[in-house]
Amino acid sequence: MPTTLLCADTILTLDTQDTRYAPGYLVLEGDRIREVGPQAALAGRHFDAEITLKNRLLMPGLINAHTHTPMVLFRGLAEPYSLFTFEGWYEGIRSWEAVLEADMIADAVAVSCAEMIRTGTTCFADQYFYMDHITPVVEQSGLRAALAYGIVEMGDAAARERELGAAATFLESIQGHPRLKGWVGPHAFFVDNSPKAIELELALADRFETGLHFHLATSGEEERHCREHFGCGAVQQMERLGILKRRLLAAHSITIPSEDFPTLARYPFTAVIAASACMRSGAEIAALDAMRRAGINIALGTDNVANNNSYDMFNEMQTTAKLMSLREKCPAAVPARDILRMATLGGARALGLENETGSLEVGKKADLITLSLDDIGWAPDADLSGTAVETALVYSVSGMHVRDVMVDGAWLLRDGAWLTLDYAESRSRLNAAFVRLKARRKEGQRLGG
Ligand SMILES: [Zn+2]
Repeated sequence: MPTTLLCADTILTLDTQDTRYAPGYLVLEGDRIREVGPQAALAGRHFDAEITLKNRLLMPGLINAHTHTPMVLFRGLAEPYSLFTFEGWYEGIRSWEAVLEADMIADAVAVSCAEMIRTGTTCFADQYFYMDHITPVVEQSGLRAALAYGIVEMGDAAARERELGAAATFLESIQGHPRLKGWVGPHAFFVDNSPKAIELELALADRFETGLHFHLATSGEEERHCREHFGCGAVQQMERLGILKRRLLAAHSITIPSEDFPTLARYPFTAVIAASACMRSGAEIAALDAMRRAGINIALGTDNVANNNSYDMFNEMQTTAKLMSLREKCPAAVPARDILRMATLGGARALGLENETGSLEVGKKADLITLSLDDIGWAPDADLSGTAVETALVYSVSGMHVRDVMVDGAWLLRDGAWLTLDYAESRSRLNAAFVRLKARRKEGQRLGG
């Protein structure tokens, strides 16, 4: 198989030993990393293709562990609403979703994927309905993804049957895809998914040997519900039902009682922290530091961009780090190095992909990004054994420093230009779809009274 040599000024592998090379090289064979090391070790060797990434830092791609890609259609509409309460979500989002049409989805997803690629994300975990319209665009984008078919039940048994049937068809259709994995996406256990829905969703996840991506503990609603109806907390009830044995992606995880942390640490459970969305909605702050000390895997996500409003995971890392220092009243309560791990290997672990992606190591997939060292925001300390690079990546560099993105050994962005998606075209069609969406909502309001 042809080999490709990539040379960069600095390579951060983000492996467990925190190995760095400056200057460094990577050798790719097909979609995998075959070698990584210091350029001095190359000693005149030659490869089928050789690419010098001048004034670039090369690192693993970021993993956005909680998104709802079609919701870029609603960007700018949720300013006055908390999307962390049922009321706010219903007013701010659900009323728009009621007039959403299937043919609006593809362009929204294309814009979302383009923004993720542009800002250095190589893998993401999505949760939404219309998954049959989302999947072809994600496939075209070249990104790696865990796609969860979203299920909102809200007491409607017919909707439950319809959505579960559609979820099963979707999971069947995506089986064996090299980059995309189907997940089950209950919107929120106990809040808008009934015990019957939960039972069927778990059976679906068991049948397809996959995970569940859902919202948990955004405001304590399910905790109160479970105490009232089952005489125990939500985590105990999930354990009783056998939910915890599946891989779980629990978006937000803000109000989980600390006595449940040891239980969750025993299972393949990930708390996905979406700090910007949390702050925008005026929600409480997750006990990230206590959870990770208890042994719970942590990943970071942007959540929907009506709430965030950005897909930039560098921005998300910065917000998370600052929010945790503020919460704990302690500088670097969660050090930059650990924040970077959460946005890379933490996300990979969440998706069961830790042997495939999340760090630059021999045998892993070539999922990587480069950032321009010519742009502003880098620390003057060139000592790569120190923390200056990590501090810059978390606190002063943005996604707009990203110049190149590769997933599975294929370039998705080269020197800032998209190679798999036509952003301008998709954005223009998205704008037109939004005009239609507004008209449909206005008409609905007129007919409704
Ligand atoms: Zn969400």
